Amino acid sequence: MKMNYLKKPSIYTFPLVSSNNSAQCDCGFDQIEYSRSKNLIIQKNCYYKAMYLNKLLINSQKKIINLDNEHFILYNSYYQSIMVNKSVLLFLSLLNPALKTNPENLINIIVNEWGKQLFYSTVDKLIKIKAIEIKGDKQSDQNRINQTLSVWLHITDRCNLNCSYCYVSQNNNVISLDTGKKAIKSILDSALKYNYSKVRIKYAGGEPSYYLNIITKLHQHAKKLFTKHNIYLEGVVLTNGTLWNINMIDTLKKNDLKIIISLDGINNFHNVHRKYKNGSGSYINVNKTINLLLKNDIKPNISITITNENVDGLPELLNYLLNEKLYFSLNIYRNILPPKCKISCDEKKIISGMLNSYEVIKSNLPNFSLLSSLLDNINISRPHLHSCGVGHSYIVFDTQGYISECQMNMKHKISKISDIDPISILRNNSNNIQNISIDEKEECSDCIYRYWCTGGCPLQTYIASGCFHKKSPNCNIYKALIPEVLKLEGLRMLLYNKSE
Ligand code: SF4
Ligand code: SF4
Repeated sequence: MKMNYLKKPSIYTFPLVSSNNSAQCDCGFDQIEYSRSKNLIIQKNCYYKAMYLNKLLINSQKKIINLDNEHFILYNSYYQSIMVNKSVLLFLSLLNPALKTNPENLINIIVNEWGKQLFYSTVDKLIKIKAIEIKGDKQSDQNRINQTLSVWLHITDRCNLNCSYCYVSQNNNVISLDTGKKAIKSILDSALKYNYSKVRIKYAGGEPSYYLNIITKLHQHAKKLFTKHNIYLEGVVLTNGTLWNINMIDTLKKNDLKIIISLDGINNFHNVHRKYKNGSGSYINVNKTINLLLKNDIKPNISITITNENVDGLPELLNYLLNEKLYFSLNIYRNILPPKCKISCDEKKIISGMLNSYEVIKSNLPNFSLLSSLLDNINISRPHLHSCGVGHSYIVFDTQGYISECQMNMKHKISKISDIDPISILRNNSNNIQNISIDEKEECSDCIYRYWCTGGCPLQTYIASGCFHKKSPNCNIYKALIPEVLKLEGLRMLLYNKSE
C-alpha cells in the first residue's frame, strides 16, 4: 500500500525570538524565561518498541491550527510551537491514548514509508520539542535567571514635540555628566552584584538627541567600565527622529549606538498624535532622518504606537517598513495617569485594523521572525512569566539621579543613585508596580496563551482595574490576534523553507 503523503515528514520549529534582537520599544522587555527539561527514560533505538507498549503519547495539551490543509500548527504557550505536515499529524494522531482502534498496521506503514532511520530521527525531534510525551516521565520547570539588566537613562525632559500621548512631564531638566557617571557606576555595581552578563542602556527623554554629546561621553565611559568586567553593553538612543543630521549619524555609528525611532504612520497617520509645539506634524522630518540613516547603512528600529486614529494607516506603514526590511514593534497605546487628553483604542477597531496590517505582511513576508513584534509586549516564541522586567531586572534613572521602576511612572521615586543596592529596593518595595507572575493571575489561569501574554503590562492592568491581579484590558485583542500571528509565522517558515 503506497501512501504518498506519508513519504517525507516535515517539522518546522518556531524560532525563539528575544526582544533584544528584533522588535524594541520603550519598555524593559527582557522576560525571565521558563525552561523545561525531561528525563528521557527511553533510548532512541527503543522508540518503536515503546510505541507498541503505549509509552509514547501525543502531547494532548497542544492545540491545532490548520494552516493550508497540508500544514498544521501545534501550539500551547507552555511549550515551543511547531508546524508539521499532514503525515506527521497522522502519525501523532496514532499516539493519542483515546484512540480506540489498534494503530499497529498504520504505524507499520509509516515506518515502512519513512524508513527506520527517518522514523527514529522524526520521533526524536518530536520528543525534543515536546510534541510527544513519554508516559510516566517527569518534567521539571526551571525558572531561568534573566541575563540582561535593562536600564532607562533619562537624558532630558526637554522635547521639541508635544505628542498627545506623551507620558513625560516636560521641563528643561538635563542630566549632568557627573550624575550620568554616577548612574553608570550604580548600574555596574548592580550588574556585578546580581551576575548580569549583559546590560542594555536606553538613552531616552524627552528628546535625547539634543544632548548626543552627553550620551556619547556617558556611553564611552560605560563601555570602558563594563569591558573591564567582561559585561556586554548595548546602547540604544530612543528618539522622535526629527533633529538628526549627517554629523549626528556619524557620531552614532562611531559610538556603536543603536537607534529606535517612533513612527506611527505615513504622513497624517503619524502627524495626528506627533506634532511640534506649534501644531504642525513631524512626519516629513522623521522620514528624512530614516532615509538619511538608510543611506548611511544604519537600520533604525521602528516603534509604532497604535490608537483609533492611526490604526487604519498601519497597512501602508508596514508595507513601507517591510520593503525597507526594518525591524518594528506594534504597541497599543497605554493610558497615562492622570490622562493628558482623551485617546481611545476601540477594541473592534484595533483588531480589524491590525488584521488588515497582517494581510500586508502576508503578501510581503520578511526573512526575520515577527513573533515578538506584532502584538504589544507579547512574545509568542517562548514561555515566560512576566510581561516586562519591572521590579526584577529593569531600572529607570531620571535626570536628577532618582530611580523608579518604570519610565511611565517616574514620579514615583523609590531609590537614588547613591543607594548601595537599588535592585533589592526595587524588588522588595510593596508600594511599587506589582509585576506578578502569570501563575498568580487567577483570571488568566485557564488561558492557553498565558505564558506568552503573561497578562500584559502590569501598569495598564492597574490603571484599568485598580489591581495587579486582573487580566490585561487588552485581553480580547490579544486572544483575537495571537492565532493570526502564529499563522503568519507558519507561512513565513514555509516561504523560507525552515523545516528540519
Ligand atoms: S490577559 Fe487574556 S490573553 Fe493574556 S494571559 Fe490573561 S486571559 Fe490570556
Ligand atoms: S510596567 Fe508596562 S509600561 Fe512599565 S515597563 Fe512594564 S510593560 Fe512597560
